Amino acid sequence: MIIGSGPAGLTAAIYAARGFLNPLLITGNELGGQIATTTDVDNFPGFPNGVTGPELYDQMQKQAERFGTRTVFDEVVAVDLLHHPFKIRTTSDEFETKALIIATGASPRKLGVPGENEFLGRGVSYCATCDGFFFRNKEVMVVGGGDSALQEGLFLTKFANRVRIIHRRESLRAGPSLQERMKKNEKMQVVWNSAIREIQGNGAVQTVKLEDTRTGAQSETPVSGVFVYIGHEPNTGLFKDQLAMDHEGYLIADARLHTSIPGVFAAGEVHDKVFRQAIASAGYGCMASMEAEKFLAELEHNGYPDANRQP
Ligand SMILES: Cc1cc2nc3c(=O)[nH]c(=O)nc-3n(C[C@H](O)[C@H](O)[C@H](O)COP(=O)(O)OP(=O)(O)OC[C@H]3O[C@@H](n4cnc5c(N)ncnc54)[C@H](O)[C@@H]3O)c2cc1C
Repeated sequence: MIIGSGPAGLTAAIYAARGFLNPLLITGNELGGQIATTTDVDNFPGFPNGVTGPELYDQMQKQAERFGTRTVFDEVVAVDLLHHPFKIRTTSDEFETKALIIATGASPRKLGVPGENEFLGRGVSYCATCDGFFFRNKEVMVVGGGDSALQEGLFLTKFANRVRIIHRRESLRAGPSLQERMKKNEKMQVVWNSAIREIQGNGAVQTVKLEDTRTGAQSETPVSGVFVYIGHEPNTGLFKDQLAMDHEGYLIADARLHTSIPGVFAAGEVHDKVFRQAIASAGYGCMASMEAEKFLAELEHNGYPDANRQP
């Protein structure tokens, strides 16, 4: 079984189905995962003219089903990974599986301000690597004060005329060397003690309403892009107390994507907090599936590796 219908889950399904592993994939509420929420994907190989997120999902889904993947449009609400075969419960059914690939991804934290959802993919972005290219010679803002905000801000200076870091406080959490690089980059500037209260535009982002966090005074500032870097939440709540996780809640897996329980594999952003790209997640899906295949072959010959393990 595979949980998740993003690039990791669907690629795992393609490989598992072609390997005659008879996979069943549970999609979750976000069909196609994060990539299906964006309009322009220009960096997924095989699409020289780009592809929309929903179209990419549709192609992957069809490819997985072509080789016999069974798709369940439901959400997993509970799992028992402490006994083998593993039990997976959805809102309407219960399943057993000998091997499980977890591809539940992560979700970017949102600002939660008016206009954020409306202008997603039309000026609002959570990924500079994905969307920076669309902001050549424009002005953008990056929200956040940690390493990712500064790293992505510096990356955006390759394209944008000006990159303003919007930060609620008077000092940044980012490491000193990134702060040093930022200071030396004349395209970058920090707007201290400020928070975005609204994103406005007409078809695409045109202005943001900024609030001074000390005085409460508000002003409107013209800008073309708003990149939000206030962290990600891995979707791992289901596996708490069963699988090893790091302090941020990402699944811990070894280089071959084995988690702390034999037969359970992690693929994509549910354990990768570094690359966060569709093609990287697809690659992890491939690897997890190949490892699941080896695990199932071993299982057939030697039984479950740790049958006496106590929860
Ligand atoms: C707006 C936006 C634009 C982006 N643009 C690009 C781009 O242009 N190029 C690029 O390479 N990357 C882009 N990315 C990043 C890319 O989308 C992610 O790296 C990729 O989708 C991660 O894939 P994943 O399969 O690991 O997880 P996700 O895409 O996060 O998928 C997770 C899946 O798990 C499912 N799930 C979660 N919980 C449960 C549950 N309890 N039960 C069942 N299913 C569950 C969800 O429904 C979802 O289908 C973008 C991201 C965003 C947000």
